[in-house]
Amino acid sequence: KLPVIVIIGRPNVGKSTLFNRLIRKRRAITDPTPGVTRDPIPERWLLGNHPVTLVDSGGIKIEREGLDDLVSEKSYSLLEKSDVILFMMDCTEVTAEDREIMERLRVYADKVVLVVNKIDDVNRSDLIWEYYSYGFQRIVGISAAHGHGIEDLEETLLGML
Ligand code: GDP
Ligand code: MG
Repeated sequence: KLPVIVIIGRPNVGKSTLFNRLIRKRRAITDPTPGVTRDPIPERWLLGNHPVTLVDSGGIKIEREGLDDLVSEKSYSLLEKSDVILFMMDCTEVTAEDREIMERLRVYADKVVLVVNKIDDVNRSDLIWEYYSYGFQRIVGISAAHGHGIEDLEETLLGML
C-alpha cells in the first residue's frame, strides 16, 4: 500500500490548485466558488522517486456541509488512514472554520504539515510567522498559484516518509 497524503482545509484556500500543481495535471476542478470540488480525488504521485497517493479532499463534506462533517465517518477515516495531512490555510485570512479544523487536527499533529498558501510575493512572506502560534511543528509557506515554496514542501514531505 502506498503512503497516503491528503490535502484538507476550508473552501477556497487553494487545495485543488496545489493538487493540480503537484500532479501536474488539471484533474481537480479549481473554482473561486467555495466547495466546487465534489469528491475526494486520489491520484498517484511521484514524490521524489517515491510513489504515493495524493488526495484532494475538497469534496469531503468539510466543505459543503460544515464542520460537523469533519467528524463524520468518511472524513474521519480519511484523516485516520492518511500518513500525512497537508492542512492548508490562506495567508490573507484566518477564519473560525480554520480554527475549528485545527482543533480537530490536534490529535494528528505529528503527521500534519501546516501549508500557508497565497504567499504570492515578498510582501506577504512575513505573514507566515503568526502561524507558528498554532502549535504545529511543520509549517511551509507556498504560493500554489505561482509555484513558490513547492520544493520546500516536497522536501518536508520526503522527510516524513
Ligand atoms: P479549494 O476550494 O481549497 O480547492 O481552492 P481552489 O484551488 O479552488 O482555489 C480557490 C481560489 O484561490 C481560486 O480562485 C484560485 O485561483 C485561488 N488561489 C489558489 N492558490 C492561490 C495562490 O497561491 N495565490 C492566490 N493569490 N490565489 C490562489
Ligand atoms: Mg477544491
